[in-house]
This record gives sequence, C-alpha cells and structure tokens, in this order.
Amino acid sequence: MLWSPWKLEGSALVAGKHDALRVSLQEQAFSGVDIVSDGEQTRQHFVTTFIEHLDGVDFEKRETVRIRNRYDASVPTVVGPVSRQKPVFVEDAKFLRAQTDKPIKWALPGPMTMIDTLYDAHYQSREKLAWEFAKILNQKAKELEAVGVYIIQFDEPAFNVFFEEVNAWGITCLERAIEGLKCETAVHICYGYGIKANTDWKKTLGSEWRLYEEVFPKLQQSNIDIISLECHNSRVPIELLALIRGKKVMVGAIDVATNTIETHEEVADTLRKALKYVDADKLYPSTNCGLAPLSRSVARGKLTALSAGAEIVRKELSV
Ligand SMILES: [Zn+2]
Repeated sequence: MLWSPWKLEGSALVAGKHDALRVSLQEQAFSGVDIVSDGEQTRQHFVTTFIEHLDGVDFEKRETVRIRNRYDASVPTVVGPVSRQKPVFVEDAKFLRAQTDKPIKWALPGPMTMIDTLYDAHYQSREKLAWEFAKILNQKAKELEAVGVYIIQFDEPAFNVFFEEVNAWGITCLERAIEGLKCETAVHICYGYGIKANTDWKKTLGSEWRLYEEVFPKLQQSNIDIISLECHNSRVPIELLALIRGKKVMVGAIDVATNTIETHEEVADTLRKALKYVDADKLYPSTNCGLAPLSRSVARGKLTALSAGAEIVRKELSV
C-alpha cells in the first residue's frame, strides 16, 4: 500500500530495511533485471520520505490540497526557507551498492512533483519553491552519485498535468537538479501507480492520451539523458516518441495497474513498436511505473516477463 507506516523502529528498522533490500535485490536478480533498484523498500512514499527532515516544513501543520488535480491529501506546510541538512538514502544506496555488481538506479522525486505534495505558506510561488527544491535535490543526487549510483531518476508525474508550468519553468528546475552530475539522469513521467484515483483519472482521458506531446519538444532539447515513459496498455500513441528522437528512453512495457502478467510476446511487441523511434542502444525496457502496490508474486511475474520479452527482441536484433 502507499503511505504504509513502518512496522519497525530505530535500529530494528535499519536492519529490516537491509533485509528487505537483500530480498528485493534477489527477486530482481532471479527475474533477470539488469539495472536494479531498491525495489521501493527504503521509502514509505516516493515524495514523503524525501521531505521528511526538511527544514522549513512543518509536518504537524497539515493542509488539505488536491494532488495533481486528482485526489485530496493532507500534506505538511512550508513555513520558512527550505533546506535539508540530513543525508537521504545515502546509507541505503551504499548498502545496496555493496550487495551487487549490477548498475543501480535510484529514484528521487522531481521538483515539480514535490511542490505538489506540500502546502506553501512561505514562498507563495510554485516556481520559487520548485527552484529551492531543485537545489536541494542536486546536492542529494551528488551524494548518491558519489556512492556509486549509475542512474538517478527524478519522478515527475506532475509533468503530465501542468503543461504550461512544465514548459515555463518545470524543465528548467529539473535541469538545475541534474546540474554537474556525471552519472546518467532520467525523468520518469507516468500516469501513476495502479491506484483507484489514477485509474479513474485515466478513464477521463479519452481514446488517445496525447499528454506527452505537450512536454516532449522541450524535454528533447533538455540536458536530461533518459526519459522514462508509460507505453504498454496505455493509450499513448507510440509515434509521440518521435518527438524525443535522440534521447535514451525507458520504455514502459509492463502495466502496473493490473494483476495480469504480460506474455513475453506482448512485452516484445511493445519494444518492437518503440524501436521504430528509439535506437536499440538507447532503449531501456522498463515497467510503466512502480510495482509497489502489487503483490510480490505478481511483481515477480511481471519482472520476469519484462526480461524475457527484452531477450526475444535482443535476439532478433543480433541476427
Ligand atoms: Zn510512475
């Protein structure tokens, strides 16, 4: 579930997270995943864990805001200048690094998605607050890079909602967040986890989801290395990928909003379609979004299908 409370505390929580990381890593290895992650074991929610311990944010002072124009949530309030003294995820990333030789991807929230999960009583400007977060994210990303993270991904589902702001300052803030990084950088733009608020929203989007069209041209021009997208089972016209030609693309070939496990051939088919617009060496087969709300057996099945489908296409390409 999302926003699930930790069951452990203190040193038991640290040990518990380590065990969860080991298990998740082993599941990924068994499923044939090449670039591994923390399996979302080190965070309660993709934004919340990052904003915990931020100076300038009062967690006791809650306000109800509408998240991405979709659902109401009670969120903390920005009461003063934001900064973050404590490291975040660095120890977890170091631990994961020590457990595997595979490249690691680590996800951080994007600046625009962060501001959408807070009530701002201080800056009174979404742009200004996002810029402050971008500077903090940049520091934190550099700490993760230093411990051996290979891809740092910024989750920006808000890029699928606030197009004008994305083009006016959202992408500029994202570029501030990746400034000076030598590792690969990615932006993940999805239609959300398979939770009800998101699936209900998707029903309102009509037969063709052309939302990416609004932000792709400017993203294509940006410094971000990789764009992570939802493709399989979504109504995104695949030809929109032509708008980001030249970029590396994480192609979502696994639906996270269903328990049905994709066939290997379905995965391969999505990848083949994407290959018309993305060079093979720039294509990273991926899931549409995180698997966190799914059961372990479904998640494992889907990851296994992902690797198997990718293998089919890899063989075709090597012929
Ligand atoms: Zn996502």
